[in-house]
Amino acid sequence: MDLSNLTIKKASELLQSKKVSVKELVYFYLNQIDKKKDLNIFREIYGDLDDQIEKSQKRIDKGEATELTGIPIAIKDNILIHGKGASSSSKILEDYTATYDATVIAKLKDHDPIFIGRTNMDEFAMGGSTENSAYGVTKNPVDPKRVPGGSSGGSAASVAADLSVVSLGSDTGGSIRQPAGFCGIVGLKPTYGSVSRHGLMSMASSLDVIGPMSKNVEDSEIIFNAIKGKDPKDSTTVEGEVGGKDKGVKTIGVPRSFLKEGIDPDVLENFEISLKKLEKAGYKVVDIDLDSLKYALAVYYIIMPAEVSSNLARYDGIKYGNKVEGKDLIDGYFKTRGNLFGAEARRRIILGTYVLSAGYSDQYYNKAWLVRNLIKEDYEKAFKKVDLIATPTSPTPAFKIGERSEDPIAMYLSDILTVSANLSGVPAISIPDGVVKRENSELPTSLQLVAPHLGEQSLFEVGKKFERI
Ligand code: GLN
Repeated sequence: MDLSNLTIKKASELLQSKKVSVKELVYFYLNQIDKKKDLNIFREIYGDLDDQIEKSQKRIDKGEATELTGIPIAIKDNILIHGKGASSSSKILEDYTATYDATVIAKLKDHDPIFIGRTNMDEFAMGGSTENSAYGVTKNPVDPKRVPGGSSGGSAASVAADLSVVSLGSDTGGSIRQPAGFCGIVGLKPTYGSVSRHGLMSMASSLDVIGPMSKNVEDSEIIFNAIKGKDPKDSTTVEGEVGGKDKGVKTIGVPRSFLKEGIDPDVLENFEISLKKLEKAGYKVVDIDLDSLKYALAVYYIIMPAEVSSNLARYDGIKYGNKVEGKDLIDGYFKTRGNLFGAEARRRIILGTYVLSAGYSDQYYNKAWLVRNLIKEDYEKAFKKVDLIATPTSPTPAFKIGERSEDPIAMYLSDILTVSANLSGVPAISIPDGVVKRENSELPTSLQLVAPHLGEQSLFEVGKKFERI
C-alpha cells in the first residue's frame, strides 16, 4: 500500500480500520528517513520506537484510540521529552538529556502518538535557513540546493519529505510559517499564550510560541486543539476559550502600501491570485492601512536579541550545558561561551546586551517597546474594520544554501512579513498558494492569514475553504 502523503485523518483511518499496523506505518517512515538521509532533517531518531509502537497498537486494539494514536510526529530539537536528548542544535547542549516533558509533549502523550525523532534547526531558533545549526544545514526536499527556511527547517522538511505525518515547531518571528512556506506545507503560529511554553527552550520569551506544521489546515487544527490550553507551569498562558469560536469571517484586509517594495514579483502574482480565490469563496477583500508595520522588523531585532541575551545567560558551562575548561572561572566562561555558541548566537547576545546597557536602553529597548505597543494598537484598529489580514508569508521563495549566510541583514529581511504577528501576539497561519519557477525547480509560495487574538478558529475555517478552491 502506498503510504506517502498521509494526513492525520487518512493515517488514523488506516490504523483504526486495521488496514495498516502502527509498526508498518512507523517503519514506512523509517525507511523514507533512511532513503533521504542526505537532506539532514533529523538530529536523532529516538531509540524507543518499538516500545512506543507497542503501546499505541495496544490502545488501538482495545478500541480506545484517538485520532492521534500511532501517528508519527517529529519534534523540533528545542522541545523537551523526558529522557531524550534535546540540544536546540547547539554544541553547548550537545549532551543534554531532558529531565521532564514539555507541556505540549505531556498533552500529546495522552493520545499515544509516535515521537519519531528530533529535527534540525537554527541554533536556539535564531535564523531563517537552518544554516545556523551546529550540525549542518537541512536541505529543502523540493530543491536540495536550497534552504528549507528556519528556524524550524527540519520540522518543515520532515513533513514535506514525508518523514513524519506532522511536526512541532516554534515561532518567535516566523520560524514556523517561513519554513512551512519554503517547503510547501501548512504552519500555524498560535496566539501568544494559547500554547504553553513550559519545556520549550527559551529564545525570546515575550514572542516564543509552539505550533504545528502539517500537510493541510485540518491537521494543524487537530494538533493545535491537542496542545493548547491554560498551564499552571506557564503563567503567560491565557484563560478561557482558547482558539475562539469562528465568528464568521466576512472581510479580509490587505496592507497594500506595505507590499509595494521588496517583494518578489512572482510571489506577489501568486498572492493576487490567492486574493481572487478568497473573493470567489465569498470574502470581501479590502485595502487597509497598517502603517506601523514598517517598523516591525527594527523593533523585533531589538526586543528579540535583548531577551535572547538574558535567556542564553544560563548556558555558562556550570549551571547548564557543556563546558570548556579555563585557567580560572572567568576564563572558563569566555572559553565555554566563545567556543560552544555559534556566530549568530554570539552576535545576538552582543546586540542584546548592548541595547539593554545603561545609557542605551532608553534609546533602543524602551523605545522599541513603545513602538511594539503602537503595532499592537494598529492591529486592534485594523481588526475593527476587517476579520482577517492577508499577506504573502515571505517576500521570496526558498533561497539557495549559502546565498544569504554571510549577510545577516539579507537573512533578517526574510522575516519582514511574519514578525509583526509575534510582536502583537496574534495568531497567523501559512498556507501554500502556488509555485514559482526558478531554474529547474518549482518553488512553493504561501499565503499568510492573520487573525485577532485567540481567533485560530477563523484561520482554520478560511484556510480549509481556501485549500478547496
Ligand atoms: N528568522 C527569525 C530570526 O532569526 C525568526 C526566528 C524564530 O521565529 N525562532 O529571529
